[in-house]
Amino acid sequence: MNKTTIVYKLLLGLLFFIVSDNLFSQNIFIIPLGIAQDGGYPQAGCKNKCCKDAWLALSKQKMISSLALVDSTKNCAWLFDCTPDFAKQWQLLKEKTNSSIKLAGIFLTHAHIGHYTGLMQLGKEVMNEKKIKVYAMPRMKKFLENNGPWSQLVKIKNIEIELLQNETAVKLTDEISVIPMLVPHRDEYSETVGFKIQAKSKSALYIPDIDKWELWNKNILDELAKVDFAFLDATFYSADELPGRNMKEIPHPLVIETAILFRQLNSSTTTKIYLTHFNHTNPLLDIESMKEKFFIFESGLQLTIQGEIINLD
Ligand SMILES: [Zn+2]
Ligand SMILES: [Zn+2]
Ligand SMILES: [Zn+2]
Repeated sequence: MNKTTIVYKLLLGLLFFIVSDNLFSQNIFIIPLGIAQDGGYPQAGCKNKCCKDAWLALSKQKMISSLALVDSTKNCAWLFDCTPDFAKQWQLLKEKTNSSIKLAGIFLTHAHIGHYTGLMQLGKEVMNEKKIKVYAMPRMKKFLENNGPWSQLVKIKNIEIELLQNETAVKLTDEISVIPMLVPHRDEYSETVGFKIQAKSKSALYIPDIDKWELWNKNILDELAKVDFAFLDATFYSADELPGRNMKEIPHPLVIETAILFRQLNSSTTTKIYLTHFNHTNPLLDIESMKEKFFIFESGLQLTIQGEIINLD
């Protein structure tokens, strides 16, 4: 792909973003509500170059990885993960849809802090919600039921936990179903799943955390062929990103590995792929990291944009 084509694609993408952001003709759509790893961006205590500008400029800050699935005909939304940024993310969703939208349920991938702790906002100290459906795998369900403050949400029925089974579809409406898929990850408190969201005509895959693609009992290339969009773990760009930390203890598919692996796909498949769950050290969060961004666009991949509307009709 030459430079002119890449610039053209970037402009086309920007134009689509501006237009799609103002179009509400879609009935079923996804809105990414955040793109950062569990610690958010900027990250607590970070004084380094990666977070310096983001501490100073609100516009550069990014919320933690989460998706909203919206059915505008029913004026409701399901969240995929409930992050520490839930309050602002719920507000963003209202601004992007309408202020009367209802929270129909929350699907949880796993019990790492960036993926479920926003549930605390549903309790009596804040929203005091009634019987919000929380979809969780068996260990995740037990973890919530047996540990405070989450157990209180269950006890006083702020939430109602629906048990998920691996690779068993949950039908949300006549047109939408969701399938959990176990993935390998550091499972200290719960198992970890990714989700396949199946709408009437289009589908999406959401895997914000996985150790390595080759450790999965499924072939990611085959799974990509079955969906229209895929929001995938891009925590770290490269292996030298965290000096002083053993990367083997926090395995993720490195973006450079993912991009090389996906080069065997044709361009109609690579354009489905949206990278997300960026660690604060990942240069793809930095607007000035042109070399890394160029590499991604040259590979045909996309970066997930917080607040973008992605149509599933
Ligand atoms: Zn995470
Ligand atoms: Zn940082
Ligand atoms: Zn995790």
